[in-house]
Amino acid sequence: MKKKIRPLQGESYIKGTLPKGCKLCRRGAQLFFLISGKCSENCYYCSLTKDKRGEDIILANERPITNFSGVMLEKTNMNALGAAITGGDPLATIDLTIEYLTNMKKEFGEKFYIHLYTSGRFATEENLQKLSDAGLDEIRFHPQNRTQEKNIEKALFHNWTVGAEIPIIPNNKEKTLKFLDYLESLEFVKFCNFNELEATEANFENLTKRGFLLKTEDSSAVEGSEALALEILEETDYNFTLHYCSSLSKDAVQFRNRLLRTAKVVKKPFEEIQDGMLVKAVITPPNYAIPEEIVEALIEEYDIDQEMIFLRPDKKIETSWYIADVLKDVLFERYDLTNIDIVYEYPTYSRTMIAKGSLRELSLANDALKHSESKKEN
Ligand code: SF4
Repeated sequence: MKKKIRPLQGESYIKGTLPKGCKLCRRGAQLFFLISGKCSENCYYCSLTKDKRGEDIILANERPITNFSGVMLEKTNMNALGAAITGGDPLATIDLTIEYLTNMKKEFGEKFYIHLYTSGRFATEENLQKLSDAGLDEIRFHPQNRTQEKNIEKALFHNWTVGAEIPIIPNNKEKTLKFLDYLESLEFVKFCNFNELEATEANFENLTKRGFLLKTEDSSAVEGSEALALEILEETDYNFTLHYCSSLSKDAVQFRNRLLRTAKVVKKPFEEIQDGMLVKAVITPPNYAIPEEIVEALIEEYDIDQEMIFLRPDKKIETSWYIADVLKDVLFERYDLTNIDIVYEYPTYSRTMIAKGSLRELSLANDALKHSESKKEN
């Protein structure tokens, strides 16, 4: 009987059972761990940016790290249940990969689920044995040639889940089907993930040179990739799982869930979570004011809890947006402030600011709204 295609949140589709690494990723519970930018392949669609490609760089989520304490911090910040080890090719720096993999299993426990991506170039019996001994749970191949494909066979002799993950290149149906037939012939491969091809800062030129277009003006997905993935899902029936992971699902499901998960842990008492972002008010005292005195007055005279106010090293004052809103008249008049910013940030290591609004403008807009509503009622 033909297997059913099931839709997943974020316009992804699956035929079979979702691999455990993907389940954790969709829940936002997986630590993204880039062990090195080194890789011996030269894929024209590679999304590694120049600052990472070929470099000795380690990132735990977006945080550059030099030792395992950085992994511990990020794991705690997002309450991660597993990790995805990526690169570059993690097997190009096998000793380092084994060191971190071993530490993760030792510190976070056997149940901490770890999957790893590789082209397969360095998937020698010796390297695979090392990974298996260190406790790797799942290995995903993205082979570039026949020799690398053949190395998948070696991985089947270990006690872990073996799968493949490939970008779906429009007009590459024949080659993709040949690869899938090969996976089927191996019998014990558990899944093949199809990634919707995406244009990034790193590969945009290479993709446009080859005539690829974007699906829509406001999307980074490449036209034709999704259509081919769905066509293959419709037309074929393999014993292993086929899973199409859309570009939308990476942003709207995986990334968003990771932000929400992290925000809950790293949020300061005065920050509010809104759609995975942290929202707060930032007060910039005028040059002649003494910021410490403003903080003191807010605590002493207006009975604001100490943990709801934070004086930054740059002497700006952070507090909750609603405290700033309630006290805005006092703040503007007494301290001669010109503005209070309402700031929206990602709860990530870099705390990237996504948006900034002026409390004065927001208040004026709210007042105008209230005024027009009361007029309507009268
Ligand atoms: S194998 Fe992966 S990391 Fe290496 S060049 Fe290709 S896409 Fe980039």
